[in-house]
Parts: sequence; structure tokens; C-alpha cells
Amino acid sequence: MAIATETQTQDKNSSEVSALEKRRWILNDFDIGKALGRGKFGHVYLAREKKSNHIVALKVLFKSQLQQSQVEHQLRREVEIQSHLRHPNILRLYGYFYDQKRVYLILEYAPKGELYKELQKCKYFSERRAATYVASLARALIYCHGKHVIHRDIKPENLLIGAQGELKIADFGWSVHTFNRRRTMCGTLDYLPPEMVESVEHDASVDIWSLGILCYEFLYGVPPFEAKEHSDTYRRIIQVDLKFPPKPIVSSAAKDLISQMLVKDSSQRLPLHKLLEHAWIVQNAEPSGVYRG
Ligand code: AMP
Repeated sequence: MAIATETQTQDKNSSEVSALEKRRWILNDFDIGKALGRGKFGHVYLAREKKSNHIVALKVLFKSQLQQSQVEHQLRREVEIQSHLRHPNILRLYGYFYDQKRVYLILEYAPKGELYKELQKCKYFSERRAATYVASLARALIYCHGKHVIHRDIKPENLLIGAQGELKIADFGWSVHTFNRRRTMCGTLDYLPPEMVESVEHDASVDIWSLGILCYEFLYGVPPFEAKEHSDTYRRIIQVDLKFPPKPIVSSAAKDLISQMLVKDSSQRLPLHKLLEHAWIVQNAEPSGVYRG
């Protein structure tokens, strides 16, 4: 009986979701609720689609600001890529619409908010929590790379937390769909791999580097190459000046994994499917991919 009920609920949810995918939208299709946050180009609101009652996050971007910052092309690419991805650890983009002044993105709602706030609150995560998050992101990135999508901007600010406590990659603003090696400089300094700092060609292994930085930041509370001056961060990245402070205490298995990801030669970084077999992940990550505290 319980199973039947659960299946029915799932069917209902998936039919609501597919209803969300198909339609052409206008603002009047939604009841707008509280503001969830503010981004660089506009606001994000909780919203309910009137027909299906489906709860979503509606991101409202001002065209004038997009034009001023010359990011229309980037936004088009973000929408094109994110709307085609279906993975439990990637925030769904159900659709978009626009009026004269604004562009609206209909996004999956992540009720538990931003990961970087959690990290700020906790200062650093336990090994179990870090390993669970890293494994779930590795699975999401394996999925992306299988579709020739490189994220290129994995960092705490781009991760949201779903209803079950699962991580959701939320921002595809710097991602590319590619079969070629790329040279563009993008992403945030602390998380940039040496080949992007030096503007030489890069490929999907940039995401392995960023996941290594993220793993370090989860465990130590700060990214590994942080420095007061940008130029020092650059130098530390290029030299892979990786140090593990004595506190907080972190297992040697975790340090071994990080060292295998933060490798200057991108072809020598631990492949993501091997990461999932690493002893630290196997021993610490929740198989469900959900950290329950
Ligand atoms: P952004 O413009 O993407 O940086 O979003 C601004 C803020 O809105 C974020 O920092 C989050 O706090 C919140 N937010 C954005 N998208 C969502 C979402 N899908 N679910 C819940 N909160 C969100």
C-alpha cells in the first residue's frame, strides 16, 4: 500500500513536471511568493504555477542589465545547456519566458538554500558530509561530461541544497558544450586550474581540479591557494603550492584524494569514476548521496 502511494505521488510529480516543460509561459501563469534571494542581474522569487500547483523558483533578470554587462550570449548558453540536463544533483531549468523589460527563468526550487552559507555556519564539514557531497558532485559531473558539457565554475556559491539535503549544481553561466579543447579565461580565481590561469587549452578535467579545491574547502573551510593578493593566488595555483594545515584534523585518505585531483598536468588528474572508487569516498560517502547530519 505504501509503495503504491509513493508511486502515485511520483507519477503525479513527474506529470506536473512534464506539464511545466511543455508550455509557453507568461507571468500570469504564476502566483509569486516571497523573495528567495538577490543575484547580480535581478531577483529570485518563490512561485507556484497556478494550474499544476507546482512550486518553483522564478529568477527575474533585467534585460537592460544583461545588455549593459554584455552577458546575453552567456545567458542563452546557460539556458540552452541547463534545460537539457536531467540529474538529481543538477538544478532543473524547466523553461523561460520574457516580456519587454525582463527575462524569467523557471527553476527547480531548492528549499534548503545555499551551500556556502552552511559552510560559513559550520566553518568546515565532517569527512562524511564532505565525501557525500564530493561523490554526488562527481556523479553529476560524469553525467555532464558524458554530454560534452564542462561546468568550469564549480564552487560553494554555485551549489544549492535540495529538500532531502542533496546538493544541486545551480549555475551554468560559465559552462560550455564542447567537443574541442577551450582557451577562454573564466570562473573564479581561487577555483581556477593552472591551465586556465595560464590561458592554455583546457578540457573537462578543469572540473576535476575545481572539485579537488571544493573538497579541500569543505574539509578546511578555506580554499587551498587563498592569498591576500590576486598575484599570490595565481602563483600558488601555477606552482600547485598545496599545504595541509594541522587543524582541523583531516585523514590522510582525504589528503591523498585531494593530492590526486590537484595535479598540474590535467591528463594526470584522478578521473571522476576512479574518484568514486577511492577508499576515502567508499568509506565515508553515504551511498544514497544524501547527507542527513
Ligand atoms: P542567483 O541570482 O542565482 O545568484 O540567486 C540569488 C539567490 O537566490 C541565491 O543566492 C539563492 O539564495 C536564491 N536562489 C536562487 N535560485 C534558487 C533556487 N532555485 N531555489 C532556492 N533559492 C534560490
